[in-house]
Amino acid sequence: MAETFDLDKAIRKVPDFPKAGILFYDITSILVQPAAFRFCIDSMIKLYRDEGIAAVVAIESRGFIFAAPFCEKLGLPLLLARKKGKLPGKTISASYDLEYGKAEIEMHVADIPEGGRVLIVDDLIATGGTVEAVAQLLRRGGANPVGAFAVVGLPFLEYSKSLSGFPVKTLIEYHGE
Ligand code: AMP
Repeated sequence: MAETFDLDKAIRKVPDFPKAGILFYDITSILVQPAAFRFCIDSMIKLYRDEGIAAVVAIESRGFIFAAPFCEKLGLPLLLARKKGKLPGKTISASYDLEYGKAEIEMHVADIPEGGRVLIVDDLIATGGTVEAVAQLLRRGGANPVGAFAVVGLPFLEYSKSLSGFPVKTLIEYHGE
């Protein structure tokens, strides 16, 4: 794996999607380039393999894509945080604000590891609202959110201000739209 992989080149930027004024960072262009996707998963493993992570919670839907191979490779349980109404078992839910809209997210309460160190994974972190909602679900379920990972970070949207006491790691940051 090349340390200097040019991830920026592998990310498609789509202006005014899904609405005017939003620059959409599209990770599907990473997925069609196996070397780029492998770089992301290998980087996640390097960042977290020695962090004593007990489980990972992936955020619907693009978080699933990065969390699943990471969990399989490290032998970690993978929990899904899904949009309201998708999970069949007993859930807990939280609502939150998005960069573009409002949403509600749910987790299967029985799968949350009591006292476990849990990593939250998504493709991109913008305002941090989604990650913070999942962190709150984890705490309500008795687990300890110890970090969040996203391939892309948009620090100018000030996600750090929304997050309660755990660090974010990203592979690439963009500083404006
Ligand atoms: P936030 O809660 O504001 O951190 O928003 C993060 C969620 O919204 C992630 O699941 C992203 O996939 C999606 N998202 C927000 N802004 C963008 C953007 N500019 N480009 C791509 N995805 C985005």
